[in-house]
Amino acid sequence: MPSSKLTTTLAALLIVGACSEDPPSPDAGLEPMPDAGCLSGLACATWLEDYEREIVYKLAGGMPIANGVTIAQRFTTEQREIVRGYLESELQLHGLVPERHDYGTGTNVFATLPATIETTATVLLGGHFDSIETSPAAGDNGTGTALVLAAARYFADQPERNWNYLFVFFDEEEVGLVGSQAFADKIRSEQLDVRAVHNFDLISWDEDGDGAVELWSPDPGLQALYEQVGQERGVTVQSVEFGSSDHASFIGINLPTVGVSEEFVSGDFNPHYHTPEDTAEKIDYAYMKRISELVFEVLSIAPQAATR
Ligand SMILES: [Zn+2]
Repeated sequence: MPSSKLTTTLAALLIVGACSEDPPSPDAGLEPMPDAGCLSGLACATWLEDYEREIVYKLAGGMPIANGVTIAQRFTTEQREIVRGYLESELQLHGLVPERHDYGTGTNVFATLPATIETTATVLLGGHFDSIETSPAAGDNGTGTALVLAAARYFADQPERNWNYLFVFFDEEEVGLVGSQAFADKIRSEQLDVRAVHNFDLISWDEDGDGAVELWSPDPGLQALYEQVGQERGVTVQSVEFGSSDHASFIGINLPTVGVSEEFVSGDFNPHYHTPEDTAEKIDYAYMKRISELVFEVLSIAPQAATR
């Protein structure tokens, strides 16, 4: 997320659900994390943790992203173009046809995975692939990018899909949510039937070991869905009002939207955020896998009909 907005937004944050009937147990962090195992009723994604780790290492300069090419950041025009090529090649490996959305100052990458039935209903999964200039940005947002690519691989493998999936990798989030705002304009002008938007930013850090996920400014229906699946899988779901990432662009066009993150606001702040220390070896890949499985389960249940 762009740091310029952080201070004011943190000051303005409001814990949502403080009055909820069933607040997360304050002792949740003391319990060992139950292993929820494979997704209910779906094939086990044994490749998930290794795949996400590989993507984060490539995006954050921990290993070459292409033959003989290692990138230190994802900030310059040249670096972001290298990343676009990598994202496109991964999408193609999963049988998808990548497309580009050039909006002038930058270019988003996206791909549609069609439903196996006749429907226009679409669920958007997004995350920004750019970084600030001075950080390898493994957590912010190599992790969200990896989760979206893993979701593309996962859902492309499923024999049945009752809605279309639109996977989008946003450019220029760090300079002010530019790519996602351009994509929101595209959705509106093309009148795409997007029923829900799930955006992923920072799925990397769990120093307090409670395995909790944080939802940013969630649509109430989506919040309930995450809480339901979280309860089934033993994952604490916290919700806060927080607007400094790409989900804000879709709230801006009144789509049911949720930002999914680590406990960035709720007391487990990643000290490497926006520093040169945000490197691939700092990421908690087991935590990332558990959150990814939660997300896949949520996305397997419902596209989330519009609630606003
Ligand atoms: Zn970010």
